[in-house]
Amino acid sequence: MKVRFCSGWFSTGMIGRPDLRAVHERRLRRSFTAPMQSMQRLSEQSAHSSLSLVKALSMTQSSPLSIDLKDVTKTYRGGVFALRGVSLQVHPGEIFGLLGPNGAGKSTLVKIMMTVVRPTTARGQVLGQPVGHNGTLANVGYLPEHHRFPPWLTGRQAVEFAGAMCKMPRKLRRRRTDELLELVHMREWAKKRLGTYSKGMQQRIGLAASLVNDPQLVLLDEPTDGVDPVGRREIRDVLTHMREQGKSVLVNSHILSELEMICDRVAILVQGLVARQGTVASLTSSSRCYEVISRATPEQASSLDGVEFESLGEGRSLLRIPSDDPVAIQPILDQLRSSEVMIESVLPKRESLEDLFVRSVTDPSTGVALDPGANRNTEVDVRSFETPSSESPDGGES
Ligand code: ADP
Repeated sequence: MKVRFCSGWFSTGMIGRPDLRAVHERRLRRSFTAPMQSMQRLSEQSAHSSLSLVKALSMTQSSPLSIDLKDVTKTYRGGVFALRGVSLQVHPGEIFGLLGPNGAGKSTLVKIMMTVVRPTTARGQVLGQPVGHNGTLANVGYLPEHHRFPPWLTGRQAVEFAGAMCKMPRKLRRRRTDELLELVHMREWAKKRLGTYSKGMQQRIGLAASLVNDPQLVLLDEPTDGVDPVGRREIRDVLTHMREQGKSVLVNSHILSELEMICDRVAILVQGLVARQGTVASLTSSSRCYEVISRATPEQASSLDGVEFESLGEGRSLLRIPSDDPVAIQPILDQLRSSEVMIESVLPKRESLEDLFVRSVTDPSTGVALDPGANRNTEVDVRSFETPSSESPDGGES
């Protein structure tokens, strides 16, 4: 297939040299690893194998969820149990965080949705179509981790090429490229070669390329990797903009504080199993409390029912009241005031997403974090680890 996506590129010393041009086109197609790889070449390669899967799953009913995976398993050769029965739901208009330590199976799961990897078993749907349906990819955007663009392309050419691979008409893809370059704040750099870009700028172009087909669902693997704080905020704005348009975003990042800011719901994958799934607020509900910084002494604190005391030095102390009800803590505050204890601050607190993550990968019986990588003996079941809230580990809200 010939892709004439940008006349400017071919005009720089290539006109009249069709052999060279063909070589460059082939080179370009081979080395380009962004979403169109999955949408075109890889999907064509896997079309045959996916067909039987699609047939097997075609009896299922269309789901209103953007992603509705049920019991997905993947065992790689050599007995590597990468996924051991993953069920996961992403709603339209939702930013969903997929978290997990290295080797938990996140990439495998995303590749299964992108039809790049064939599951061992899978039920469920992506955008209302059975898992493995290639045609669905026309509505899906994908930013892989460590994606590489050919360094001789300009930012504009990379995004336009992505559009060409999605078979977008030239006029439309040019207009869309303009919009996207504006959205990721790369308009000024659009004519410069990618080889001169910083990591963060390449990420911005990768994000633009993943959105070129105006996808209903976008899967982003570490989209803010190497991006500076301003850029990270801009990328978060792009994602919230997508949410406002009713689109779904599945995002994987190791910057948990960032996910906590934007994700409506999260799933924590550990050794191929969903250890936790739900909103951060509900998953951390059992840890909610009030923290009071005051001048209370240990003796004064000991008379307060159920309150934990921690000395902060220089006469200051932290009192932890195990309740998230502002009414319930008033008698304790009254007691402190009646003892003429100076109160500096009263703040509602809960576990952070990072705390929740660490708890999810730590075996409560040993207090030791599980090893990274897939489980080889299927004995450890992280779902049996303490589930503090009312949410079920693999099925969302119960
Ligand atoms: P994550 O993205 O969470 O880091 P991966 O999905 O990449 O995890 O990998 C899950 C497990 O599957 C790891 O133990 C990894 O070594 C293994 N794995 C991934 N790809 C292959 C493969 N092609 N062949 C064999 N094992 C693999």
